[in-house]
This record gives sequence, C-alpha cells and structure tokens, in this order.
Amino acid sequence: MKKIIGPFTQILPLTGLPLKGALKDEQLHLIANGGVLVDNGLIVETGDFNELRKANPSTPTEEIQTGHVLLPGFIDCHTHICFGGNRAKDYAMRIAGKTYLEIAKAGGGIWDTVTQTRAADEATLVNSLVQRANRHLAEGVTTIEVKSGYGLSLEEELKQLRAIKTASVQTKAKLIATCLAAHMVPKDFTGSQEEYLQHIVDDLLPVIKQEKLTNRVDIFIEQSAINVENALIYLKKAKQMGFDITVHADQFTTGGCAVAVAVGAVSADHLEASGEHEIELLADSNIVAVTLPGASMGLGMPYAPARNLLNAGACLAIASDWNPGSAPMGDLLMQAAVMSASEKLSAAEVFAGLTFRAASALKIEGGILAPGMPADMQAYPCADYREILYYQGKLKPNKIWIGGNDPMTQ
Ligand SMILES: [Zn+2]
Repeated sequence: MKKIIGPFTQILPLTGLPLKGALKDEQLHLIANGGVLVDNGLIVETGDFNELRKANPSTPTEEIQTGHVLLPGFIDCHTHICFGGNRAKDYAMRIAGKTYLEIAKAGGGIWDTVTQTRAADEATLVNSLVQRANRHLAEGVTTIEVKSGYGLSLEEELKQLRAIKTASVQTKAKLIATCLAAHMVPKDFTGSQEEYLQHIVDDLLPVIKQEKLTNRVDIFIEQSAINVENALIYLKKAKQMGFDITVHADQFTTGGCAVAVAVGAVSADHLEASGEHEIELLADSNIVAVTLPGASMGLGMPYAPARNLLNAGACLAIASDWNPGSAPMGDLLMQAAVMSASEKLSAAEVFAGLTFRAASALKIEGGILAPGMPADMQAYPCADYREILYYQGKLKPNKIWIGGNDPMTQ
C-alpha cells in the first residue's frame, strides 16, 4: 500500500556517501521536517513532508508525532545468536582473572556451547533465536546475520542452519545465515584438521547448497582454531563451489587478513590484532573490515584499529558478534557508541558502519533511505541525530518499520 510517513524532525538518509574511508559529519545529508513516500515495501521518495503531501494528495499519511529522527534500520553483519545454554560460568572466571586455557580446562569455551547446542532440539533453538532476533529488531536492527558453528558435525550443523531458516519466517527481522562449521575441529572428530575440513567440503557443503540453507561460508582463522594453511585450502574449495567467503581474522594473532585477501572474501571480521600491514591489505582491497566492539568489551581487550582502518581508506562496518561466550550483551548501538569515544569515530562513520557499509559485508542492498530500497527504518524520540550516540545506546528507537510496516503489530 502506498503511504507517506512523517513528519520527522530530521531524516538521515545516509545517501551520497562513499563506501570506503573516513567520513565527516558535515558530509551527512539531512532532511528537516522530512517525510518518506513508501509503496509496496520500498521507498519511492524522501523529501520535505509538506511537499510530498502536496504532490500526492490522495495518498494516506502515517502521522508521526514531532520530535523524531529517522534512520535506516541497522544491519548487524556478524552474530552467533543460534545457540543453546549460556556461559555465565566462563564469564565469572574471566572477570576473576582466569586465562583462556584455565577456562577451557574447567570445561568452558566454545566446546561448552557446542555441547549445550547439541543438547537442544531444533524447536528450542528456533524459539530462542526468534526471541533474540525480536529483541534486536525492537532495538532498530532490521537485518541480522546468524552463523552456525556450534554444531560441528554434519547433522548438528544442519540442525542449526535449518533452525535459522525456520526462525527467519517466524521473525520480521531479516535473517541471513552463514555456515561456520570451520569454527574449530570438534573434540569428538577422529582425524586431523585437514580431514575435518575436507569432511565439511565433501559431506556438508553439498547438502547446504542443495537445501539452499546459505551461500555464505565463514571460518575462525587462529592458531588455536584453524591454521592459515588449512584455511586457505578450505576456503578456495568453498569458493569454487560458489560460496561467498567471510573470515574471523586477526582476533588474537595475525594471518587471517592475508587469507581473506587471497580468497577474495567479502569481509574480514575482528581485526583486534591487525597492524599496519594488515590495515594496508584491507584498505587496498574491496573487503569490508568488520569491527566487533562487543567482543572486546566481553573479553576486556583493546578494540580493533577502527580509526586507522578508516584513515587508510578501508570500508569499516560495526557488528555485535552477539554470542554466548565473548559477547553476551548483544546491544549493537551501545557497543558502537562506546567504542566510538575510544576510537574517535565520527557519527557519520558510526552510522555508515551500522547501515550501508554493513550491507556491503552481506552483499545486500539497503542501509540507505533512497528510492527503490526496502523501507526498513527506525525512528528515535529526539530532535537531533547527534543525541543517538550521545546517550551511548540508552536512547532506543520507539518506532520500527520493515518494508514500511510496523513489524510488531503484524
Ligand atoms: Zn564471531
């Protein structure tokens, strides 16, 4: 149905901005007393509210109380929100000063979530995933990437990916699945790292393709997870099969970025350990650099060098990494706002990283309010867009649209 939504005190359409490099707030295009003409779920036009009404006299209006700022919905391009159980015990040990190894020895770490996720049936996984997706949606996140990687066997990875597919029709948030079977070599696999990765290529990826569960493959490249040499071989095979590649790179040690470049990945995520060389590699490529401040907060570690990445000319997206181990909070806006104070990012860079630059990491259209784009939007009860980061995530949107409609009332 065609309608005009407005008036908004400000619209921040995030149009006309470059995909890569640093941004200044002066570059932001602002529409005062703005409106959005929506038809069939897509944006037809944004502009002055009164002029839109004059030009479309018979089109109904969805009236907005004055004092709202409209933005594109956020796109969280990196999460692990399909899981069973929690890891509160790990967190207690970590904040008390225990090391990664000590936590793993006490039965914690990724394997603990694998055990709890395997113990959950598919319906339970779907329910908890829908709840988390709806919480994200209520906070303005309209598109959410969701990884597998807590199954780590043929049947259990498929269970997770099927749960994501089922959940995607039970939530109005748009879910995009990614296969992270190469999260680590499962403890119960009898064989080498090479053999496990070959097992995924031979037995899992063909089924994923056949059932159309995802066209994205991820890997955790790290000395303690999958090494650089094996990652390169695995990802080349996945790419040959037609999968888009994304990687967990440089979280603790470097090596992942070079793999991302070698295989032409769409994004390289984490980057906390990235130095000058890795920053240059990413800036010279079309790979989206994804920073995950929630993981830094959860682990008590420094942020990825977001400022330096932008200065070097990289495309920087910001995602939550929402997961039960290192990033349990899952509040994307708060994480982006708090990180921006440390990393010295402009509001324009933060909002670009949460919208159209994140869309690029997922190879989807969106993240801007422009003709032909999905009318996935969020409105904050404030008069100036700068208030949104100023309140560091405590100011939440009080109106969300998916395809121009309220997803909460459908
Ligand atoms: Zn992750």
